[in-house]
Amino acid sequence: MSSDAANSPIKDRVIGVIGAGTMGEGIAQTAAHAGFVVETLDTNPDLVKKAYATIHERLDRQVEKNKLPRHERDETIARLRIATGTDSFKNAELVIEAVPEDLTLKRRILGELAEKLSPRTVLASNTSSISMTKLADGLKHPERFIGMHFFNPAPVMKLVELISSPKTDFQTVVLGVSFANAFGKTPIKVKDSPGFVVNRVARPFYLESLAMLEGGVADVQTIDAAVRDVGRFPMGPFQLLDLIGLDVNLAVTKTVHEGFDKPARFAPNAIQSKLVEQGRLGRKTQRGFYDYSSEPATRSFETPVRSAEGWKPTAALTAFAKALNKPADRAMYLFARIMTAIINEAALAAETIALPREVDLGMKYGLNYPEGPLELADFIGLDVVQNLMREFAADDRSGRYEAAPLLLKHIAEGNLGEKSAAGFLRHSL
Ligand code: NAD
Repeated sequence: MSSDAANSPIKDRVIGVIGAGTMGEGIAQTAAHAGFVVETLDTNPDLVKKAYATIHERLDRQVEKNKLPRHERDETIARLRIATGTDSFKNAELVIEAVPEDLTLKRRILGELAEKLSPRTVLASNTSSISMTKLADGLKHPERFIGMHFFNPAPVMKLVELISSPKTDFQTVVLGVSFANAFGKTPIKVKDSPGFVVNRVARPFYLESLAMLEGGVADVQTIDAAVRDVGRFPMGPFQLLDLIGLDVNLAVTKTVHEGFDKPARFAPNAIQSKLVEQGRLGRKTQRGFYDYSSEPATRSFETPVRSAEGWKPTAALTAFAKALNKPADRAMYLFARIMTAIINEAALAAETIALPREVDLGMKYGLNYPEGPLELADFIGLDVVQNLMREFAADDRSGRYEAAPLLLKHIAEGNLGEKSAAGFLRHSL
């Protein structure tokens, strides 16, 4: 952005959006509400009109509920324009591509844009899983290309993952941060890597739960209840799988699994794959792990559960429960299995692709986690997390519980979390 543009009043600032589907529509609303003029392009202008009509209806409802002043609705709507071609983007400071998740399609569109846009325009992709490195490959001016991963619904969700390819330059990242802030979002800076931060660190939430189900440790409802009651998550993993769609979730797992060269910890789960094959995809097909054909939903997936008779909490689980000020019972064990795996993945991400603080922000603002996994680890004590991992690893041969090097490094240096004033994050005593 030129200094002129940086100083210009917001009403003159133009953002381009390509694709008026679920995400394009939400991004257009977000940018227009923030004061930018938005030019949206789709294959057919009627699709843009339809998206804008939906935005209008949504804002009308907010006005009716007194959540939005009437003039803000009117001004937002007045800033929405229908692009007639890439020429409409000639004054745009930022153009965000939100077309379907298809590498060939995205490369074609980004290639055309990079040829035509002013060299000052930042070019962004809202891809949720395609490698930014692949998208940047062969692009003219790859230094001004960045991933801006919004979450659905874009006007509501606070997070934007800003993903750099190896060719993205520093100034583009700085501009990405300022655009995200201007949209009222919290950006986190991420280096290109499969699943970026949020979709990667969230994998164990599902996969560890599925592994426990498969191993007969507990049933669907018991695991969901443990995650809600002990972890204070709004939904359990199986409820969330049903909501997202087992197929959509499986596709993300496969991308991350393959992107990392197939480590055991990301291996797709056989139960989930089977349910997808059977067309039991969750709420959208009325059946997944629960049956939604009548209210309230009932459990629809049964597996044999091993008896927990004689089970006793270990010292590590007792320490984990004590930190959370809750009983060291079976629910605590189930939650500890899931949370420890998430913490370990967060530690792996924090060592390689994003700052620890931003990994936490990603999980809180992208997926509404009650706490960031790394701040929770610091609160519990990194030594306690390591002891739990050791115990879980003792019953497993796959290597999925191997402690992250960053966790081990902090422990070796005596940085055990809040109790020693430093862990993944710094704390003042
Ligand atoms: P969508 O299918 O709802 O919308 C895509 C839009 O792109 C459609 O309106 C389509 O007509 C348009 N389009 C197709 N080809 C085009 C072309 N050549 N030129 C202009 N427009 C074209 O898809 P979506 O769910 O909005 O997803 C868009 C992107 O955002 C994908 O990369 C997806 O991975 C990512 N994403 C989706 C979500 C989500 O929850 N839906 C969340 C985050 C990121």
